[in-house]
Amino acid sequence: MDTVEKLKVLSQDSQYDLACACGSNKLDRRHRGAEGKWLYPVSLPQGGYSVLLKTLMSNACTNDCIYCPLRSDSNVRRCSLEPEEIARVFMEYLKKRAIFGLFLSSGVINNPDYTMDQLNRVAHILRYKHQFRGYIHLKVIPGASDGAIEDAMKLASALSLNIETPGKKHFDLLSDKKDYDKDIIHPLKLMSNLTQKGGRYSRVRCTTQFIVGASDETDSEIVKYMYGLYERLGFDRVYFSSYQKGLGKPEIPGENRAASDTDRPFMREHRLYQVDFLIRRYGFSLQDILLDRSGNLSLDRDPKEVWAEMHPEFFPVRINKSDREELLRVPGLGPASVKKILKMRSEARINRIEDLGIRGKRLEKIKGYVALS
Ligand code: SF4
Repeated sequence: MDTVEKLKVLSQDSQYDLACACGSNKLDRRHRGAEGKWLYPVSLPQGGYSVLLKTLMSNACTNDCIYCPLRSDSNVRRCSLEPEEIARVFMEYLKKRAIFGLFLSSGVINNPDYTMDQLNRVAHILRYKHQFRGYIHLKVIPGASDGAIEDAMKLASALSLNIETPGKKHFDLLSDKKDYDKDIIHPLKLMSNLTQKGGRYSRVRCTTQFIVGASDETDSEIVKYMYGLYERLGFDRVYFSSYQKGLGKPEIPGENRAASDTDRPFMREHRLYQVDFLIRRYGFSLQDILLDRSGNLSLDRDPKEVWAEMHPEFFPVRINKSDREELLRVPGLGPASVKKILKMRSEARINRIEDLGIRGKRLEKIKGYVALS
């Protein structure tokens, strides 16, 4: 295969990894660039969007993760790119102003440190040969040594290592080769330590991802781990990727779950993202996230609405008096609407909910939880 063909295969195979800032709304969906390569929009720290070239270095892998289509015994077309090839293509795209950064991951080639060395080499070429100062997101390969991770820190703007499951017992159902504590938790803690505020690598963003529904974990366990990743390890973002039936081996728990658990896998992922937002941006605590008896979120109800329903004593919230945290508890009001309310009422009393500029079903929902006086 030539470079273009390999890039088509490898950028397609990188689609399951969401641990960069690409999301699901209309503006930040991936699209194909010239020659079929996937380009991934990311949100910028200063606002707005730009586009990443996202690819694997190799889709060959010595590991055996049974949920992954690239596991060593799966029959896929394998190929690898050389560090110089990736750097060359990246610079071509950059010159055309089609992208602003790189997201680079890989299957495990030979061993974790060899693979990290190859990934780091791409970043090194871009930083030192091409003087590229922009965004580089590198994947940390499970089982990489402390030294290889620190080398990546020196070169990257962001690093991610997928935690995959909330705890060892769920992880052990998915891989015989990888060791949860040694290969995943230890490097996640190292990433956290190295990027602490005021430290040498505090500029590097750290993210991680759960594979949702491949093992037998509950939402309650995922949410607790997610909380710990933010509160104790100071991670910048946690992502969720829904396991899609048919990609893993037949014995994987995710393949055998009852239809009711798996017929709406993306809704489960969506609910977890809603919880993630409630905790990061709405001031919700772990106790505010309400789960059913089996330890899962409702697939049918928004978690904020579930909380509101269980706390009738909290409502109505007063549009002209309540503070920001109280307004954020209202289903249908997000940080942007609350900011607008605070600004409007600092200038004049708000006399009609309609004046907030919100329409339709969302407006009707809000009206059920607020009062003007
Ligand atoms: S290490 Fe990564 S690429 Fe390899 S089988 Fe596991 S999930 Fe797939």
